[in-house]
Amino acid sequence: MPRSVNRVSAFRNAHACTCTLVALASAIALYACRGSAERVSEPSVGASAAATTGPSWRPNYERPTIVDVHAHLSSRAVDQVSQVLDANGIGLIVNLSGGTIGRGAKRNAEWSTRDPRIVNFANVEWRARNVEGFGEFAAKSLEIAVKRYGFKGLKISKALGLFLTTPDDSRIPVDWPELDPLWRMAGTLGVPVAIHTGDPKAFWEPVDEHNERYAELSVHPNWSFHGPAFPSREQLLAERERVIARHRGTTFICVHFGNNPEDITAVDRFLDANPNAVLDVSARLPEIGRHPADVVRRFFIKHQDRILFGTDLGLTPSMIMLGSTGEDEPTLSDVKPFYDAHWRYFEGSERQISHPTPIQGDWKIDAIALPEPVLRKLYQTNALKLLKATLPQRTETSGETKIDAPATPTVKPAQ
Ligand SMILES: [Zn+2]
Repeated sequence: MPRSVNRVSAFRNAHACTCTLVALASAIALYACRGSAERVSEPSVGASAAATTGPSWRPNYERPTIVDVHAHLSSRAVDQVSQVLDANGIGLIVNLSGGTIGRGAKRNAEWSTRDPRIVNFANVEWRARNVEGFGEFAAKSLEIAVKRYGFKGLKISKALGLFLTTPDDSRIPVDWPELDPLWRMAGTLGVPVAIHTGDPKAFWEPVDEHNERYAELSVHPNWSFHGPAFPSREQLLAERERVIARHRGTTFICVHFGNNPEDITAVDRFLDANPNAVLDVSARLPEIGRHPADVVRRFFIKHQDRILFGTDLGLTPSMIMLGSTGEDEPTLSDVKPFYDAHWRYFEGSERQISHPTPIQGDWKIDAIALPEPVLRKLYQTNALKLLKATLPQRTETSGETKIDAPATPTVKPAQ
């Protein structure tokens, strides 16, 4: 179908958006829900007056070392990234903007070798999409990224489905058959595909004061997909589901709570129907937290083996993104309150608290007080299993902190 919008500029604009901040940037056994929910005990939130440790919203709780599976990092921001990891108890962070073989992969692999807390996902060289054999080329590129550079997965941006076109200006759908070799290769290599399809429901609504994301869309008018130039959100999600159904040997991380946090019932059905799909929670706490706390809590307990912690943190030398961006530029001192807002939501039991990304909506959320074993899976162990990774160990030598590579050897980049 011919598109009437300027796809080139739309694509370019997409790189300023939530999920493509930095540069152009199996099959894990899906851990079937084992019903351990019944065995976990309720947290004693606020129960102990004698509590001396832990956050105020969860006395005596000791948070495990965190794995953040959704970030966009620049290797030129090494110091800032280190500071953020240290200050927020993050032992491993996934840089979804790892780059392509021709652009950025080697540099990011070297960074990861120096600081094994950084894990890279590869991006696709979409500029080659209209060259014959593109699907096989993309698959081979992923294989090189994984085997030569030690990359741990593949990241697909929302450009697929929304902006990418063929030479006759037809939209390339998410389930474009040309990409089947790529999805298959991820399964063969045993690395997950983090796939961003669609966006918040409100981005398809008219951009006016009635739109609940008006503040965000006012700053970023090119984030709007309202009107006939764009496929519907439902169509995009259906295309994504067809890909997932066609490739059961590949694990898909459906980022942003499957990009359907507005409809938790639909996400529940989606997970039930697709055993090779998992979610991350990045940049969607406002929507998730709007549902009744008991409903969300049940969802997280039911799917406790299939939800990953992520934030959509972006860090470059010139820019910080905390789930989204607005007119006000955040500073490094804003990063810890951003992470704290996540802990407070998952761990505490308070009602009507602030969510981590104020520009995403002028409302409050209700915390869900997850049981401790569920928190551990969300924060750490689900991601470690999926990434087949272990946490790098920190050692102190003569006042200097050194971070040792995990026991699982990482592949050194080729020279
Ligand atoms: Zn992102």
